[in-house]
Amino acid sequence: MDYNRSGEKTEMIPIAKPLISKEEKSAVIKILDSGWLVGGEVLKEFERSFAKFTGTEYAIGTPSGTSALFLALLALDIGSGDEVITTPFSFIASSDSILYTGAKPVFVDIDEDTFNIAVDKIEQKINPKTKAILVVHLFGLPADMRAISKIAKKHKLKVIEDSCQAHGAEILGKKTGSFGTVGCFSFYATKNMTTGEGGMVTTNSKRIADRLRMLRSHGMRIRYHHEILGYNFVPTNIASAIGIEQLKKLPSFNRRRISNAKFYNANLKYMEGLILPHTPKGFKHVFHQYTLRIKKNFVLSRAKFIEYLRSKEIDSLVFYPIPIHKQKVYKKLGYTGVFPVAEQLAKEVVSIPVHPGLKSRDLMKVVSALKSLYENKNK
Ligand SMILES: *Cc1c(COP(=O)(O)O)cnc(C)c1O
Repeated sequence: MDYNRSGEKTEMIPIAKPLISKEEKSAVIKILDSGWLVGGEVLKEFERSFAKFTGTEYAIGTPSGTSALFLALLALDIGSGDEVITTPFSFIASSDSILYTGAKPVFVDIDEDTFNIAVDKIEQKINPKTKAILVVHLFGLPADMRAISKIAKKHKLKVIEDSCQAHGAEILGKKTGSFGTVGCFSFYATKNMTTGEGGMVTTNSKRIADRLRMLRSHGMRIRYHHEILGYNFVPTNIASAIGIEQLKKLPSFNRRRISNAKFYNANLKYMEGLILPHTPKGFKHVFHQYTLRIKKNFVLSRAKFIEYLRSKEIDSLVFYPIPIHKQKVYKKLGYTGVFPVAEQLAKEVVSIPVHPGLKSRDLMKVVSALKSLYENKNK
């Protein structure tokens, strides 16, 4: 039994579900009992274990993935007059965080097999104003960091990894968040691990780590000595305590996401008009989402397919129906570019439940709902 957004009981298989159990609960109670709701060792412990997990020297906690991205850009001295290359096919925060600093997001179309930035189209957008590439590892699949790092090195650009959907994803055993100048993570309730709301920046640079700590805490190293303009972006100990426990479970959460995806891959692969997610060789996809593409020759239109799943008590969601450059807020800013692949995929994609809370009967229910569509068609 699950609960919907209004707190009512529902039989619907949800698209996402945070897995919180006794470990998180007792960690939170401990914090509440201690009276130390912010500051001290708990955040440091979460940061140390997260840095260790990603294979980076430093990790700096923030209250959200959005604030992690914003602070990371500020720590790299990106601001007004600068351009940052990024993808138009993502959650809007990856691009909005560039706007917050006064810099300009410059979009590059995506690759249709991976949904990630098209590496071969990056260089044509580089000019003297370009300061950085902000890559997104969409749906849990790493972008091609080897190629991107090469381009960045050649043009002396910083690299920001938006790893908000890719905790634990890897390329040849190396984790996302450890390739770029900085890596940014979100611990929002639906992500691969959660603290309710929360975020983290990872880096190997002591200087950047130091700047991040000042930026998130009113520009101070020593209490009430304010050296730079900073903000209040310090996570609570309640969030950090949950994070410590969730991080321990992240590998098993990801294993379940991957095995759920494998089950779908094996059972859905011969369906006409349905394109399944692609994982390039050497890449570890952690399936934040399992995203299908509905082609014209599929039995139903995407809208009808979503309706059909709903009738079978299966939730699904379109990530994302409108590419960022086509959002009203960007149109008002004068964005007129055309990114045909992103625009096409926005019309085709739909994500089905893949989270670790799924039972095998849930997986069966999804597969048989899809199979019966296919069988009815062939009658
Ligand atoms: C979730 C997400 C963010 C923002 O994280 P919040 O914690 O919600 O602020 C940024 N980028 C991507 C790709 C995301 O999925």
